[in-house]
Amino acid sequence: MGDRIENGIFATIRKQLAEDEPVPNLPEYDGERSGFTWAEARTAFDGRAGGGLNIADQALDFHLRRGDGNRPALRWLGRDGTVRDFTYAELTARTRRFADVLRRLGVGRGDRVFSLLGRVPELYVAALGALRNGSVFAPLFAAFGPEPVRARMVLGDARLVVTTESLYRRKILPWRAELPGLRVVLIDGAGRYPDTDDLDPLMAAASEEGGTAPTGPEDMALLHFTSGTTGRPKGAIHVHEAVVAHHVTARYALDLRPDDVFWCTADPGWVTGTSYGIIAPLTIGCRLVVDEGEFDAERWYRIIERERVSVWYTAPTAIRMLMRAGEEVAKARDLSSLRFLASVGEPLNPEAVVWSRRVFGRPFHDNWWQTETGGIMIANLQCLDVKPGSMGRPLPGIEAAIVAREPGGGVAVLDQPMAVGELALRPGWPSMFRGYLHDEARYRQCFVGGWYLSGDLARRDADGYFWFVGRGDDVIKSAGHLIGPFEVESALLEHPAVAEAGVIGLPDPVAGETVKGFVALKPGYRPGEALREDILAHARRRLGPAVAPKAVEFRDQLPRTRSGKIMRRVLKARELGLPEGDLSTLEGEGA
Ligand code: ATP
Ligand code: MG
Repeated sequence: MGDRIENGIFATIRKQLAEDEPVPNLPEYDGERSGFTWAEARTAFDGRAGGGLNIADQALDFHLRRGDGNRPALRWLGRDGTVRDFTYAELTARTRRFADVLRRLGVGRGDRVFSLLGRVPELYVAALGALRNGSVFAPLFAAFGPEPVRARMVLGDARLVVTTESLYRRKILPWRAELPGLRVVLIDGAGRYPDTDDLDPLMAAASEEGGTAPTGPEDMALLHFTSGTTGRPKGAIHVHEAVVAHHVTARYALDLRPDDVFWCTADPGWVTGTSYGIIAPLTIGCRLVVDEGEFDAERWYRIIERERVSVWYTAPTAIRMLMRAGEEVAKARDLSSLRFLASVGEPLNPEAVVWSRRVFGRPFHDNWWQTETGGIMIANLQCLDVKPGSMGRPLPGIEAAIVAREPGGGVAVLDQPMAVGELALRPGWPSMFRGYLHDEARYRQCFVGGWYLSGDLARRDADGYFWFVGRGDDVIKSAGHLIGPFEVESALLEHPAVAEAGVIGLPDPVAGETVKGFVALKPGYRPGEALREDILAHARRRLGPAVAPKAVEFRDQLPRTRSGKIMRRVLKARELGLPEGDLSTLEGEGA
């Protein structure tokens, strides 16, 4: 399998940078890669006395030490149209105060500081203030219901949570007794509860004089919960040294530089929204755009136009929604400020890459990583041609391979191009997770024979590009074929009526499994027998009868995580009438 995509209708996009485009931060792949070491990358971080390293210090104070405090750091676009700007000096001052607030409340190094907030300025101050204080920052997505909030805060031993009055009342108060030592700080509470604190007066009384905690590179800094696409979310532990990888990977994979206006659309409740929505761009010194609102094609394009966004990092689900909204909406805006587009979180269908090239004049650059890896590992780079449908090539400092688990407990590296196997990484990059919280056994199982096993299946082609096949659990075995749902979904998406597709395997007495597709239609199309036949025929033409779905069903929408990933396990469970498992991150549940 595989040739269908690479040799299919989507030709490689040859990179020809216009004359006015800057030389990529990674100007050339092979040489830079072979000369790169993390040890050397670490020395570029000036750190602080005693070899310490602190993410907040690198993201903020670093710029002040260089006299760049007045540079713009963050522009916040409120839902109601309010705009607030923060310079590096202002963010530094606020996070110093927040760290002092934590100290006064008795929250210290290693203590877990949670946030349950929308994308408001206080979230960014809390994140960097907690890191400055040496506490561990754990962001939660504000749309979680009370149970997912409870489960994560209890698992994470929350000492303090920053939230709003309404979120507190609905999502924490009902179970608060379970965490007797928890301090609750409300950003808008105005003293409404006897056992909560109000942030504003605390900030006003706090000092900016306290120093940054003398954290070391291996001190725990961030606690991130995985998306829960395949089961119960896990708490991944990251340390301060991760900042080295955040910085380096953003320079290479996002081509980010200090004069960029950078918009990462991910919510900080997910790892992308923290690693690249807060930390990495600030260490580089660029200006962040933060939009409080939810997805809206019209408004998103307006933001890019008004803010002159130059580097844009988003996700396939958003890109598919933009495609659904149509090209006219994009063409109504001046999007010429965009110079680099990137995507992460799910496989990016080749259709979307070709579409973006047509509509924005630039391809989306897909990249691959996980909560566990803390930063981008494999990417389509500015200096390399883009193969639509491929995740790209490993970054400098990252050794990736396709491996097979062996019965004896080891792994074998599959060198043959296009062999399907598990995507594995050689441990040692700085943002690698240091554990699953309270689940040491599961953490250890991830490492076999000197490799970290990602749980994703992929292939590598002869040019060294990696191609996503599917998550281990999602791959379909049908009549001797190994079928990746991504490949089938991508073919379905090429049909003009299809806006979204999810593909699963169903048990079959003869074939082992058969392929079934679920599709949501673009505006203007209606479900019907003729359309179903047409979609099936299209898939057979593209994929051949052995791989094409045997059945397609229409859905208004597909089950997705709140971070936008299609939950194939839910499609499958519903189809088979089986228990649906952990639904804490399912969109639309429990908010
Ligand atoms: P859980 O581990 O709880 O099931 P999750 O794996 O979705 O959830 P994340 O860490 O947020 O949690 O997502 C990482 C996963 O997302 C990867 O392992 C991969 O399956 C998928 N992914 C991320 N980027 C890409 C990409 N560019 N192409 C294909 N898949 C991707
Ligand atoms: Mg995962």
